[in-house]
Amino acid sequence: MKRALITGVTGQDGAYLSQLLLGKGYKVYGLLRRSASADVVGERLRWLGILDEVELVDGNLTDISSLIRVIQQSEPDEVYNLGAQSFVKASWNQPLLTGNVTAIGAGNMLEAVRLVRPQARFYQASSSEMYGLIQEAHQNEKTPFYPRSPYAVAKLYAHWLTVNYRESFGLHASSGILFNHESPLRGIEFVTRKVTDAVARIKLGLARELPMGNLDATRDWGHARDYVRGMWLMLQQDTPDDYVLATGRTVSVREFCRLAFAHVGLNYQDYVRVDPAFLRPAEVDVLLGDPAKAKQALGWSADVTLEQLVAEMVEADLARHTARG
Ligand code: GDP
Repeated sequence: MKRALITGVTGQDGAYLSQLLLGKGYKVYGLLRRSASADVVGERLRWLGILDEVELVDGNLTDISSLIRVIQQSEPDEVYNLGAQSFVKASWNQPLLTGNVTAIGAGNMLEAVRLVRPQARFYQASSSEMYGLIQEAHQNEKTPFYPRSPYAVAKLYAHWLTVNYRESFGLHASSGILFNHESPLRGIEFVTRKVTDAVARIKLGLARELPMGNLDATRDWGHARDYVRGMWLMLQQDTPDDYVLATGRTVSVREFCRLAFAHVGLNYQDYVRVDPAFLRPAEVDVLLGDPAKAKQALGWSADVTLEQLVAEMVEADLARHTARG
């Protein structure tokens, strides 16, 4: 039985990746950061019906001794570093905490793997946010980076350190440059889930309007379940490498709103209003990934369309709010 250790296991990708690995017969360990809201940490794993199957182990990316202990105990064959302060807007309010967790945390994990379990395969969750002020219309593995937020700067450090540990120490370390990926398990602070949750509440008469930030930004949105499959595929290759995972289609926040409201027969223009509170100090205007390398080398592609994704998210939020009554 293969063993995997996942950081960020309570997040969207951690939950879907756990489900995928359990289905393949892995023993899954999840790093659990103790926090005051301990009762809600298992929410996503519970939603997928796998909370009891994942072994949660105490530790924190900012404490390398805890990582060393966890790796000694779990003896993983594969380590997936998904843990981060992952919300771009919050990274301007807590830039150094974001650096400690998202950048130095990845460094701690790479060091712990190198010292204790160098034969383990390592996955780093890199991000399309690293492209920021885009330098090419289609972003691929060779496109230069230009980060536009403390979050993106932190992710870039972790990305290059992963490359460097591969080249310096021969670790089987791969980095997935994932474009935005969403699902019913996406955190409510991200734009897609914020919109689908509001659509459900408005449809059910629980809300009347939706305050939004920049509607003109465009993103390359896929479904998280497709993307965690790509992570796993990267670690099954003989040689570690970096891969872009994306759909190859970019759509504006406005168009996402239109689709989500239209799914329940409403016109987004009747409900969406722009509130400057949701604008950012620096914006990433356009992201559009080129997944050709992942397709060719991994046989990977994003199967769920944006329309299917929107429908699944709106339906899930309608069901949630209906159940709450
Ligand atoms: P990001 O790409 O990791 O920053 O993912 P988000 O889902 O947080 O934001 C995607 C895009 O939506 C960004 O360009 C935001 O500026 C834009 N956006 C517009 N209105 C909102 C909003 O109300 N909340 C969020 N989170 N983003 C918004």
